[in-house]
Amino acid sequence: MELSEKNQQRFKSRLLKLRSGLLRAEETGEQAEEVVELDQTRVGRLSRMDAMQAQAMSVETGRRRRQHLVEIEKALERIEAGNYGECLECGEVIHPGRLEANPTATLCIACAQALE
Ligand SMILES: [Zn+2]
Repeated sequence: MELSEKNQQRFKSRLLKLRSGLLRAEETGEQAEEVVELDQTRVGRLSRMDAMQAQAMSVETGRRRRQHLVEIEKALERIEAGNYGECLECGEVIHPGRLEANPTATLCIACAQALE
């Protein structure tokens, strides 16, 4: 059972949509990080700590977002290479339902569970 061409195209357009959404968030997220930095020069000590906390969260969110972007890029590359939907461990086809839930999945359910 392989992913049909139609399914691959469907996942590709989903991945492209995910990517453009993340890129948009990346732009607004970067802006938020800058705003926090500016605020630090004119707020008191307590709210500066709040601001630093908010910035740390914003940095963490940005880090996860960039990680997710990398995963999406890799998934798009696999679609181009024609091996999208194959498990990187055992080479079996990843169940379409699993890709539906997470289009960047690189392992079949059995291999993912074995790693946990
Ligand atoms: Zn596997």
